[in-house]
Amino acid sequence: MKLNFCSLSSGSSGNCYYIGNESHGILIDAGISASSIRKFLKNISISIDSIMGILITHNHIDHIRGLEVLIRKNHIPAFTTQKIWESILSPRKKISRDCIREIPQQKKINLDNFEIEAFPVYHDAPETIGFQISAGGKKITIVTDLGHICQTAALYIKESNLLVIESNYDEQMLENGRYPYFLKERIRSDNGHLGNHQTSVFLADIFNDSIEHICLAHLSKNNNTPEKALETLQKTFSERDITLKSHQQILILNRNIPNEMIRLVE
Ligand SMILES: [Zn+2]
Ligand SMILES: [Zn+2]
Repeated sequence: MKLNFCSLSSGSSGNCYYIGNESHGILIDAGISASSIRKFLKNISISIDSIMGILITHNHIDHIRGLEVLIRKNHIPAFTTQKIWESILSPRKKISRDCIREIPQQKKINLDNFEIEAFPVYHDAPETIGFQISAGGKKITIVTDLGHICQTAALYIKESNLLVIESNYDEQMLENGRYPYFLKERIRSDNGHLGNHQTSVFLADIFNDSIEHICLAHLSKNNNTPEKALETLQKTFSERDITLKSHQQILILNRNIPNEMIRLVE
């Protein structure tokens, strides 16, 4: 079996990721409009009808923008913890009860051939989770919004074959940028976002042969550039004498357009 991954959109303006096999798929977050999600999926020849579920990481708008419409129009069940559901649902947000699925943390659930496990990450939402999705002997881990990497998240990350990890801001750009001080402090706090340097040092610490694809995700529009995120990681790796093997690559996920599909073969 193949496990395919495609980032449809990644960044503070909207997040949506596709994981699928030959016949079915799931989405992680629906932070862009439902019509963009349908269009982007169509562009990569994926039918919306093949989507079995939407996994939700937290209640911030860049992760749930298209959720309500997508559920209403396509009747796809959505999965997240009880606490995150409480933070999403409001009198304004009408999501059909029969599409709401509550999931536990750190306990595997199955959706067709996909094994899914949610785990806690630290971020400034009522609750935020990362996901590990396994199928066909391959593991994908997604952590897009977190202020620091705790030991639990590190365990999931280390064993992944494909890793989607936040590299939100360039530390210097944020410091010298025009955001108000309180916002800068919020972003770089332990419950905010991961900076390029922070992510790079962590990746250098845990890098191992099983990691085939490192996808740097959720780049800030104002405080980062794809070049800076990549340079910082490459520089950190070279300082630690880490060289990528032929099966390993680093990829920067686009903010507004899908990346190429990555195919993990057992
Ligand atoms: Zn976000
Ligand atoms: Zn967030």
